[in-house]
Amino acid sequence: MNKIELKSLLTDGALATPTGRIVRTLSARGALSATQIARLTGLAKSTVSTVLTELRRSDMVVEAGSESAGGVGRPATALTLNPKAGTCIGILIGQTEIQVILADVSHTVLSDRSAYLAPDYSPDTAIEYVRKLIADAYQGQWQGREGLLGVGIAVGGPVNPVTGKMLRAGGMPTWAGADMRELFGPIFDGVPIFCDNESNCAAIAEMTWGAAQGHDDFIVYTLDLGVGGAIVSGGRVLRGIAGGAGEFGHVVLDPNGPPCRCGNRGCLDVYASFREPLAESERHFGRSMRLADVVELALGGDATCRALIERAGEAGGHGLGLIGSVFNPTLVVVSGRLVAAGDMLMRPLAESFERHTLVKHGDVPDTARTILSPSRFSDNGACMGAVGLVLRHHGRLLN
Ligand SMILES: [Zn+2]
Repeated sequence: MNKIELKSLLTDGALATPTGRIVRTLSARGALSATQIARLTGLAKSTVSTVLTELRRSDMVVEAGSESAGGVGRPATALTLNPKAGTCIGILIGQTEIQVILADVSHTVLSDRSAYLAPDYSPDTAIEYVRKLIADAYQGQWQGREGLLGVGIAVGGPVNPVTGKMLRAGGMPTWAGADMRELFGPIFDGVPIFCDNESNCAAIAEMTWGAAQGHDDFIVYTLDLGVGGAIVSGGRVLRGIAGGAGEFGHVVLDPNGPPCRCGNRGCLDVYASFREPLAESERHFGRSMRLADVVELALGGDATCRALIERAGEAGGHGLGLIGSVFNPTLVVVSGRLVAAGDMLMRPLAESFERHTLVKHGDVPDTARTILSPSRFSDNGACMGAVGLVLRHHGRLLN
């Protein structure tokens, strides 16, 4: 078993063979039992059993449960791809953060590192940080860079996942027109690069490891320094013709409202993102603050911070009401760093959602009510989703 062999089994062409389908399913889902593999692939149990015997003999597949194989909620007699078969890298290019996660093909995170930057940093600065974070990620690992199978990049603005080009970037104007393949290709020397916006990546993380496991249709609604979102239908993230689907933050609420970073006026983002509340907290405390500081102070009982978060929940619920009226979704996963505030955010959000959306809880039976579920990720999970882009082959190959 080697990297070349696994790579060939992860290509689209390999889907024609039972072995290819089983390897792709294990790559996408992490640890699975033989019964689950049969159900997910539609292959006969006897076929699955024969192929798994071969894969275990060639050391491509191992039993999960050893310290080397991770995966959330794995069943008792689960199998994974051999962690030694390869690694993937997830990169988050966020508005104020660059994050790099190194994981192996059994879904175990080997390293998770971040750097924090002032907004509007340049692509050149990002490349410098990414190089350094990757060098740090491999320090002390027995997995070397030669085992790297693919790189996923989550970006904090709309990007075309096919071309890898940033659109006129809403939240990240300094990245407008940037070509992710040109920028990151030289670092990775021919390794496949996948790319998507951070909310779509968050959706992939939620369906792979998070609150949307087992759901094929759901909405991700992100409340952070920007408002974002993603739409998942039939197990696929809807990207739109140019990669701009799910940009809930830039629905215009008031065409005469204050200017938005995207160039329009009165977008939901202007009212419900935490940029202005964060600035307000800085004025109040007379020092520089991070979003996480506000949440921590609020949880510790600070009334000013608490009011800022409750107001963000109320404003966020207004926007979510619109989304509810358009999609009437089964499940909304609320993500972003504000979610760490727990009920302090979720309660006003749910109340405001109920007031602003068309279908009210009281109008329908329990089974027809939209569930609002906080994300289990401490940030928005986007960088894990970037790892998922590689493992699930959701993104289109850029090179
Ligand atoms: Zn806007």
